[in-house]
Amino acid sequence: MTRVKQEDLDTGFATRAVHAGQQPDELTGAIMTPVYQTSTYVQPKLGEHKGFEYARTRNPTRDALEQNLAALEGATHGFAFASGLAATDAVLKLLSAGDHVICGENVYGGTHRIMTHIFDRLGLEFTFVDTRDLDRVAAAVRPATKMIFIETPTNPMMHLTNLAAAGDLARDRGLILVVDNTFATPCFQQPIALGAQVVVHSTTKYINGHSDMVGGAVLTVRDDLAEQLGFIQNSAGAVPGPLDCWLALRGVKTLPVRMSQHDKSGRAIAAWLVDHPTVEHVYYPGLPSHDQHELACRQMSGFGGMISMELGSLERARLVVESTRIFALAESLGGVESLIGHPASMTHASVPQELRDAMHLTDGLVRLSVGIEDVDDLMRDLDQALQRAAGA
Ligand SMILES: *Cc1c(COP(=O)(O)O)cnc(C)c1O
Repeated sequence: MTRVKQEDLDTGFATRAVHAGQQPDELTGAIMTPVYQTSTYVQPKLGEHKGFEYARTRNPTRDALEQNLAALEGATHGFAFASGLAATDAVLKLLSAGDHVICGENVYGGTHRIMTHIFDRLGLEFTFVDTRDLDRVAAAVRPATKMIFIETPTNPMMHLTNLAAAGDLARDRGLILVVDNTFATPCFQQPIALGAQVVVHSTTKYINGHSDMVGGAVLTVRDDLAEQLGFIQNSAGAVPGPLDCWLALRGVKTLPVRMSQHDKSGRAIAAWLVDHPTVEHVYYPGLPSHDQHELACRQMSGFGGMISMELGSLERARLVVESTRIFALAESLGGVESLIGHPASMTHASVPQELRDAMHLTDGLVRLSVGIEDVDDLMRDLDQALQRAAGA
């Protein structure tokens, strides 16, 4: 378990991104935290050690990343995992057979899958609701309910949940509010300040930002949960290697400047797509036409580079995703390079058809992760691909 230092919470966000959790190396003064590529640590005497015994339990490179991410989310404790789903797995292991979880119906496909195909079998119960409407969340609470798990904005429909209201509801009913903050990042959204007790990340995405590792994190302000999460992290052992921690740590230093460019280009492209004749609908919380735009402005300080667009048919979607030259057809998101994807057949293929239909996740939906390339090049690229699909 890695606890945040108070001095790291006293500085601004960009300063924290660069410095939190990191000191010059004691041996050499190296300004960058070394990759402690080791499995074990020599003990000077029986029963004596420097706080590090075995690298599943603790690693200094991982410590630095855990402290950094906790400081960015305004949490007191951080835990790094081998993937975003390993992080979610650890959070669900806080619960026991018979416990009930209320989960957003439009969460990441893999989150839905681990709940319905693994934890359901182990005795947890799940209700999936549209968390845009908190009355539905309140109505789903049962005596066995222990946790509310939400993503906002959701992937790929860009639905928002009112975090402050969800925080109030969770507090009133004594539930743990978990927020997957992968899309907005702590740069644009601070769930803990709004009442969440636990934040989950796929650090694979914006936190690392360079598409060169897979990782996850759990951040919390609850000492009791931190105690349990530390036990789970060490007992289950889904920890990231030191090099992946180092890559995430290097990536996170530029999170604020990257997010600012993703946001600038995201807003410009979303506004331009709205007027494009081949696009039927644009889903982006930064657009005034988004039905929760007002909430977005209240609880987010930026909208980022994730945009979904409805093209009307699978054929058109296929033509567009196969015709872009700068936007690469690939799963994942949040890197400096622009990606294009088809949620129905890619990221959300594991979500049952009825659930996809219910939330309008159609075969004509295309998702963009707008990178930090020149925005004019990105628009030209999308334009030629959309024109190719226009006649289809
Ligand atoms: C990618 C993603 C995950 C899963 O993370 P992995 O690192 O791929 O395991 C969870 N939530 C969201 C919102 C994601 O985008």
